[in-house]
Amino acid sequence: MTIKDKVVIITGASSGIGEATAKLLASKGAKIVLAARREGKLQKIYSDIIEDGGEAVYRVTDVTMLEDNQKLVELAKEKFGKVDVIFLNAGIMPNSPFSALKVDEWNDMIDINIKGVLNGIAAVLPTFKEQKSGHVITTSSVAGLKSYTGVGVYGATKWAVREIMEVLRMESAMEGSNIRTATLYPAAINTELLESITDEDTLSGATKMYEEHGITPNRIANVVAFAIDQPEDTNVNEFTVGPTTQPW
Ligand code: NDP
Repeated sequence: MTIKDKVVIITGASSGIGEATAKLLASKGAKIVLAARREGKLQKIYSDIIEDGGEAVYRVTDVTMLEDNQKLVELAKEKFGKVDVIFLNAGIMPNSPFSALKVDEWNDMIDINIKGVLNGIAAVLPTFKEQKSGHVITTSSVAGLKSYTGVGVYGATKWAVREIMEVLRMESAMEGSNIRTATLYPAAINTELLESITDEDTLSGATKMYEEHGITPNRIANVVAFAIDQPEDTNVNEFTVGPTTQPW
């Protein structure tokens, strides 16, 4: 089965990469379950998809709450009868040097970027195991592949996502559950991500770099579509994607 008629849950669907992916997949005939915290944004994206002739539903979701993730899976099954793909994409990036001691932001990144992904996996695995099929896709980062100063905690959360996904892939193959995995490692993509940065020097450096190099989130949506579109016996597992001009 290709993208058409697949039921796809997307967290972090209210802007950026999640929004672009939701719209692209819907235009290719997927049924989308949109999830994020900002209801107004979700409602607008839902309306855009419906106006374009697509199918979608949305639910206000905080990925740090396991129950919210479970409700998404229930909603997908109730509305569309199954779940084929979960794109665990919600994330924040309030970067700063360790010496700034923004401990609350460290904790928020751990809760959203790591526990949010684990909660999504916990919510969907029973259904995928029962169906003996499913696809888990996550958004790590190039900061999950190498180290950058000022990015220590964010990078740690994205390294964690890499480890979680790699072991999930291996265990799924060993257990014969036919679950596919894909991890994205984007570099600079123009989204709302920098808005969570409160450290002034970090923000001005990042803004300059994104203005110089950043590319549209549609490029990441294309990669997600490619991963989903592969035959069921084929798992394309990792994608590093960024601007041609950026020496990430
Ligand atoms: P955006 O800020 O545009 O999107 C982030 C999304 O995450 C929003 O929809 C936001 O929605 C959602 N989100 C944040 N916290 C929560 C939460 N607790 N519960 C549910 N949803 C939440 O940035 P991007 O599109 O760039 O980010 C998407 C992913 O891509 C992130 O994981 C990010 O780390 C990763 N990434 C981005 C890169 C880039 O350059 N842009 C590079 C590498 C990785 P809401 O606020 O409505 O809840």
